[in-house]
Amino acid sequence: MTKYRSWAYIPEVDQKAVIPAWSDFDLDLETKSLLPHGNARSYSDSCLNSEGTLIENRLLDRFISFDEETGILKCESGVLFSQILDLIVPKNWFLPVTPGTKYVTVGGAIANDVHGKNHHQDGSLGRHIRSFELKRSDGTQLLCTANKNPDYFSATIGGLGLTGFITWAEIQLLKIPSPMIKVETTAFYGLDEFYSLSEKANTKHQYSVAWLDCNSKGSQFARGLFMAGDHTESTKLIKSATLEPKLSIPFNFPQKTLNQFTIKAFNTLYFNKNRLSSGKTTYQHYDSFFYPLDGIGNWNRIYGNKGFYQYQFVVPFSEKETMKKILEKIVDSGLGSFLAVLKEFGDLSSPGMLSFPRPGICLALDFANRGDVTLKLIAELDDMVVEAGGAAYPAKDVCMSSKSFQSFYPKIEEFKKYIDPRFSSDFWRRVSENLI
Ligand SMILES: Cc1cc2nc3c(=O)[nH]c(=O)nc-3n(C[C@H](O)[C@H](O)[C@H](O)COP(=O)(O)OP(=O)(O)OC[C@H]3O[C@@H](n4cnc5c(N)ncnc54)[C@H](O)[C@@H]3O)c2cc1C
Repeated sequence: MTKYRSWAYIPEVDQKAVIPAWSDFDLDLETKSLLPHGNARSYSDSCLNSEGTLIENRLLDRFISFDEETGILKCESGVLFSQILDLIVPKNWFLPVTPGTKYVTVGGAIANDVHGKNHHQDGSLGRHIRSFELKRSDGTQLLCTANKNPDYFSATIGGLGLTGFITWAEIQLLKIPSPMIKVETTAFYGLDEFYSLSEKANTKHQYSVAWLDCNSKGSQFARGLFMAGDHTESTKLIKSATLEPKLSIPFNFPQKTLNQFTIKAFNTLYFNKNRLSSGKTTYQHYDSFFYPLDGIGNWNRIYGNKGFYQYQFVVPFSEKETMKKILEKIVDSGLGSFLAVLKEFGDLSSPGMLSFPRPGICLALDFANRGDVTLKLIAELDDMVVEAGGAAYPAKDVCMSSKSFQSFYPKIEEFKKYIDPRFSSDFWRRVSENLI
């Protein structure tokens, strides 16, 4: 038995078996259930299968082809986004969509249909996947595109690793003028200001995201920093700040170092320092704009041995009042942490049946694990999100009930037809428990 855990340390499970995938590997294994496993950057039990076997994709790490004229890249599913960037950026290409860490595998990113700071303009990753091969436990190998095996294509994008094992994928990359991003930062106070900034910026800028303080009350309630960015000709090439983490957290912090006072102090310091650049334009290397957390090695140790929960949800634009109530609830609970991220999702639909992004405003934040009190808060937030017709993100979830899941993902009945009968996960067993 090997201990396996999510990026948030919760849950930690005794994983019965783990096998590496390599070329021509066979899925006809004598185990109860199988689940592909990427680089475990999910904060969720959707990347764990404690009752069965994990199939590691990291050995499938070869590039197959890269057309520098068209920007079409074909690679095996265990290739990391960081490896892709190292290859393509010098040739003036970029990932069409990237999450806030570059240490994810292609297979893992497709299975969660990841989104980035450009959702309002480019949608989620699934829109930029041209094709992939899906290996099923009955020995079939399906070539999936929007036209060939379209149902498996659609079920596998955002399909949480349950439809089979992706061996390789073909991605349409984005042409860029340089590795630099032109960034405009604006400080805001309150949700109204955020909504209005986001609406204006999203017609003009390819990327946008805001950092939000989830601890302050009164006139400082929902203050934050809004960042809008675009690829740009490099005026001056700043060397990457975070190609390799400069700072690394050497051990799990004792829990008591992280409390309401330290978090509040950090948020105030961060806001006041960065507020100085409000209204200014800066030029950043793509690494520091897209992947600030990758610059701190093992940052998840800050929360100590007990780990943390990340909660990410989206509610429709019309539910601004709900978003306000949710934020008030978080602030009142005193459980909010730093690093809350607020972002607008646009209306470009994904081919993925279970894809998380949908039009609205999305908030992601960490809660240190303080036991039942944290779980109770998350359950209450889930209820509010259900009520508002929104959704929580499976890649960041360890608490969602089966009832909430069905409300968030109405295409679940259709999706079930494409699940590989030998595939399962801890997440899936939990949310499908009472599936009608
Ligand atoms: C700092 C940080 C920032 C993040 N920011 C964002 C963000 O902005 N947007 C966003 O969308 N996500 C974000 N994430 C979440 C992350 O992008 C996803 O969880 C991603 O799917 C992790 O990829 P992985 O390779 O680590 O896969 P894992 O976490 O190991 O697995 C994820 C899923 O992929 C499946 N899978 C893995 N390989 C295959 C395969 N070969 N075939 C089929 N299924 C497979 C697994 O079964 C599992 O269901 C962030 C995570 C971190 C740590």
